[in-house]
Amino acid sequence: MALRIGIDLGGTKIEGIALDGSVEVARSRVDTPRGDYDATLAAIAGLVSTLEHRIPNPQSRIPTVGLGIPGTISSSTGLVKNANSTWLIGRPLQHDLESRLGRAVRIANDANCFAISEATDGAGAGAGAEAVFGVIAGTGVGGGIVIGGRIVNGANGIAGEWGHNPLPWPDAEDVSWPLCYCGKRGCIETFLSGPGMTADHARVAGIRLLPPEIVEAAAGGDAAADATLCRYERRMARALAGVINVLDPDVIVLGGGISNIERLYVNVPRLWSEFVFACSAPRGPEGSAPPGQQVVETRLVPARHGDASGVRGAAWLWLAAPQPHARPRGDT
Ligand SMILES: [Zn+2]
Repeated sequence: MALRIGIDLGGTKIEGIALDGSVEVARSRVDTPRGDYDATLAAIAGLVSTLEHRIPNPQSRIPTVGLGIPGTISSSTGLVKNANSTWLIGRPLQHDLESRLGRAVRIANDANCFAISEATDGAGAGAGAEAVFGVIAGTGVGGGIVIGGRIVNGANGIAGEWGHNPLPWPDAEDVSWPLCYCGKRGCIETFLSGPGMTADHARVAGIRLLPPEIVEAAAGGDAAADATLCRYERRMARALAGVINVLDPDVIVLGGGISNIERLYVNVPRLWSEFVFACSAPRGPEGSAPPGQQVVETRLVPARHGDASGVRGAAWLWLAAPQPHARPRGDT
């Protein structure tokens, strides 16, 4: 069985696990040296060394190393781009890590790591799922696409970044068009992130509550909190219907803090049928669709591995053969 180390480089913590086959055999974490590139490299290399020493019975097997980052590697330059950990931007992270570790390293966006984890042995695995769309909805909204067990990176390294598309089929309740950090207005992220839900509730109900507080209030009979969740569900249904119309995934796996809201898995699929092309909601007790239309087959499910999907997905980067664009062009 192969040994695989997966590292998830976060803004405050660097998490690492070692898998022997598919079994977790070691785990460790260190603080992220914020703002210091060289110290970040050293911390990742130190974490790999710690994990290697904790693997029982390595039997001279050298673990592969995969890394999830909050950004992506440019296929044209090999440098990090789009990272909210800004001290990584413009740095040859893959080259520098490979030099330190003395072996090839595979790097992917953290949302892509989430998607490959859930597609490989998580909530999107099995049942013949060809296409899996992984959504992380928390402080931001990101996404990753896995088709046939492989991450789709895309020509620009942004495949799956649906959070910065505009909210589709807007109606009167969406006219606030919040300003997004990316410079545009009305991005899906401004509505469907945790802070987006908090801001929406504050706009309408006049009180700032965190998403778990809104959920608790709604469950306790607070009509304004329930209305906020209903608006959220209608928006998520329309936003995901837009994804279904392009990708038509078998499974959409939800991760991040928002994924703990259980009512989403019932209400969102009930609402998205209206917006998925040539599909309709089931009617009647037998669940039949009108002639010429079919019900939406895509399933919406919570992540199986939760927060561990970042490190597991990074380890699984070595499951498949090398990805196209995994290395800078011109680099042999
Ligand atoms: Zn945006």
